[in-house]
Amino acid sequence: MSVHEVFYKLYDNIFIETNLQNTDYDAVVFILYPDELGVNLPRHIGSFVDKAAKIDKHINNSVTVWNCDYVSGGRLIISPIGKVTPYHDVSVVKKAAQKGVVRALDAGAKSPLIVVQSVVHFPDAQLVCVMGALEALYSPLQMRERVAPNNFTKIGFHAEEQLSEGFERIVRNAIAMERARIIARDIGGSDPERMAPANIVEYIKNSFAGESNITINVIDDEKLIAKEYPLLAAVNRAASRVDRHKARVVEIEYKPSDLSRVTETLILVGKGVTYDTGGADIKISGRMAGMARDKCGAAVVAGFLKACSILKPPHLKVTGVLCLCRNSVGSDSYVADELLVSRSGKTVRVTNTDAEGRLAMADALFKMADSASKELNPHIYTIATLTGHARACYGNNVAAMDNHSARATNHSGKLQFSGSRVAEGIEVSIVRQEDLAVNVGKCKGDDLVQYDTDAKARNHQLAAGFLIKIGGLDDKNLKYTHLDIAGAAGEAPHEPSAVPVVSLCHLHKVFM
Ligand SMILES: [Zn+2]
Repeated sequence: MSVHEVFYKLYDNIFIETNLQNTDYDAVVFILYPDELGVNLPRHIGSFVDKAAKIDKHINNSVTVWNCDYVSGGRLIISPIGKVTPYHDVSVVKKAAQKGVVRALDAGAKSPLIVVQSVVHFPDAQLVCVMGALEALYSPLQMRERVAPNNFTKIGFHAEEQLSEGFERIVRNAIAMERARIIARDIGGSDPERMAPANIVEYIKNSFAGESNITINVIDDEKLIAKEYPLLAAVNRAASRVDRHKARVVEIEYKPSDLSRVTETLILVGKGVTYDTGGADIKISGRMAGMARDKCGAAVVAGFLKACSILKPPHLKVTGVLCLCRNSVGSDSYVADELLVSRSGKTVRVTNTDAEGRLAMADALFKMADSASKELNPHIYTIATLTGHARACYGNNVAAMDNHSARATNHSGKLQFSGSRVAEGIEVSIVRQEDLAVNVGKCKGDDLVQYDTDAKARNHQLAAGFLIKIGGLDDKNLKYTHLDIAGAAGEAPHEPSAVPVVSLCHLHKVFM
């Protein structure tokens, strides 16, 4: 366990508890479901909640704290789901669990016990509830590096039914998901210096230290990056004068112990722009604040690999590629009009230096697509905070886009289903012929334009079109899915969401 995780003690201070009156806890958090969901009130507190509802109908609308002698600590926190319509999903459970735990800590509790009920209406409600409660305990890396957090000492989860293997598995999976998401939040949420490319490499090495199923390969040699990742090297030029800001490509590989059981190979390429000033096309009018979150794609990739290293899925082989760089501005900045030659040999005319994310990932994507044919049943992803347009279209949800090959298996549709089970919003967006065509170069000798500056619409789909073309994925029978998480990654003041780590783990059966 690394130094970053020690503070959470995610193993030895989380318990499954069958007794709501155990004096080791100082509060009980109860999630109140509306009558129409048919969730029974637990025996010990049912009559108390009924009475409380008669005193204050508001218990169905906001979190309340009651003195209740029947439960640990004499303190009952009631966190209501509120009204559930057909338009609501399981995220109401996550929110109620989070709010309940936050309220318990605010009330002075240090060791809350959370009642986790199964809900027919939401099949994965127990998993989502436990994950929501754990998420509420997160402290940002830069905060806990200064002071070890003391917001809680232990946390318990109570299931009404007899202590069952099934519930143990759910809690174990939730803990693994939380440990994975802590890595994603730490990388994505820390400031651009704490998580400059050099520091991300150190953090990754620490986080995976001692994991026998993980190998890490760091490419940081400037000449090698210029040769093998020429488009990334262009983005990197202004930043390359500062050693800690220089580009790095980090390959993290997960292999199960018995390779003969592998049935699927996943390759995930993440955008890790540690700060996006826009470059020479600099972001103006205060639009630069928040751009430290432009590394959330790489953060999600690292989180997914962590989940694999903990849960050890025997059927998967996974390669994660973190494309780390900083889109700085300076005398050596790349500028619009430059003609770059990509690893694939295709030329790319630069049109706007703020569309750096697609260039940062392009050569790594091509490299992976080129070698994927040697792998068993490969599927390639790119995960990136790529376009403001994705947020404009889908709010805080992921835009998922398949190439022709992945679409033939309805892959994004399946990911959307997984998301709906684990409270992560995924929207299926279709890449059309025009999204490929719009990226074709306009001048003699230009194979591609980085971005069509005349495009008035479909910006997130045409970005996927660029990646499909530069990766050579438009005519190969190779499954590829691009996830634009610009809206889903989470904006300050909120911590990064780590979405879609859990959906990917659900879909690819990293947890069962
Ligand atoms: Zn940008």
